[in-house]
Amino acid sequence: MHPLVKLDRQHVWHPFTQMRDWMAREPVMIAGGDGAVLRDVHGREYLDANSSIWTNLHGHNHHKINSAIRRQLGKIAHSSALGLANEPASLLAGKLVQAANPQSAIRNPRLEKVFFSDNGSTALEVALKLAYESTRRTRGSKTAPRFLSLEGAYHGDTVGAVSLGHIDLFHKAWSGLLFKTDKVMSPFCYRCPFNRAKPERADAREYRKCRWECVSQVEQKFSAQRKKGNAHAAFVFEPLMQGATGMIPQPATWLKQVSEIARANGALLIADEVMTGFGRTGVSKAETLFACHHEGVQPDFLCLAKGLTGGYLPMAATLTTQKVFDAFLGEYHEFKTFFHGHSFTGNQLGAAASLASLEILQGEKSIRARRKLETILRDELQQLWQLPHVGDIRQVGLVAGIELVKDWRTRRPFDLRERAGIRVCEAMTRRGVLTRPVGNVIVLMPPYCTTPAQLPKMISALREAVEACFR
Ligand code: PMP
Repeated sequence: MHPLVKLDRQHVWHPFTQMRDWMAREPVMIAGGDGAVLRDVHGREYLDANSSIWTNLHGHNHHKINSAIRRQLGKIAHSSALGLANEPASLLAGKLVQAANPQSAIRNPRLEKVFFSDNGSTALEVALKLAYESTRRTRGSKTAPRFLSLEGAYHGDTVGAVSLGHIDLFHKAWSGLLFKTDKVMSPFCYRCPFNRAKPERADAREYRKCRWECVSQVEQKFSAQRKKGNAHAAFVFEPLMQGATGMIPQPATWLKQVSEIARANGALLIADEVMTGFGRTGVSKAETLFACHHEGVQPDFLCLAKGLTGGYLPMAATLTTQKVFDAFLGEYHEFKTFFHGHSFTGNQLGAAASLASLEILQGEKSIRARRKLETILRDELQQLWQLPHVGDIRQVGLVAGIELVKDWRTRRPFDLRERAGIRVCEAMTRRGVLTRPVGNVIVLMPPYCTTPAQLPKMISALREAVEACFR
């Protein structure tokens, strides 16, 4: 056994991992990486088919991001944002505000202010606290502002973010710690109780037969709460695709419709673009980096993390409006200050990496490559419909979820205890492709630098793995 593996087994506790299973086999110990390739300590190479848990954008060891970090390191790695400002964080805030208010997308409300933190959960925690307190202050009501989020939502693991989530498997254990939030059905066409269409070998969004009951349900939720005299303070959602609950894509116009309903009911919009941000959901005509702009929706809070630094460093940002910001202004002795922050808020190395990543992302070369990659992904995925254990293939831009089922004709799911998704991913690892399932859904999320030759390899490995597991 490699000595590093020995140490890992002895001392490291891995996230979202049954450590008994972990200790029963030899893990892949990463030693390096270039582009879409990761290399282990034995020199074996793997394709990084989930962009290192949805973070990496332009590949590993990118020369531009590397040099930006090195340049910054030569000046300073970190100084506190409590009481001090710094160069890369100020520049980054300016660039993020520019990117978040594109000319072509809906312009209201303007996102003007950036609060930096460390990860996706903290980005949501900041939005949650700001929405809570600004609502309390502007409405002047004594009852606690309420939040509405989607069934199956996952917004992170800090206690506030967990409260916004609705995945029982992850959240039930902490129910005693959480505050109550409301949930409403998410538009999951493939498993929608209102979809009367029989399963076909196509994306369920395309052949669904329904009357937009999912939108009516949102309308009913908001209006019922408003009639109680305590209208929802905010609606929290992942735009275009819900990630951790199984890569659930929204049918076209759903986001626009429900956003209008939320606004009409006085709720703020909190867009969790931790996964969907920075071009992940495709290059739209507007060439925006954010999923909500694809439907012309501008939120009051835009939560960003994962890809912000190109997937290099832990950094996050919560963008919001002047109006929310103003709710916290006052004389010192009024104590209206936003009493919240972290030691590494506005970290210089993270900000330098983010600036470099944004520059690459907004360049013509990256836009062209992403367009092409999206088409290749769409074409390559088609072959998976031949597999009887593939029930649904859900692609949005450069994310795809492939749902494994017992029988595609009935949509009968695998019991989670059968570990279907885990087994397929293990078989993919043996074929040199790394990804992680969400339940029975295999996630493909290639880095944007993935070559036209590498992408088909990811999909062949998945096909072969499914065939081998369910022979
Ligand atoms: N929101 C979404 C949509 C996510 O997918 C995740 C992480 N998978 C988070 C929030 C939490 O991010 P982090 O793991 O960086 O705390």
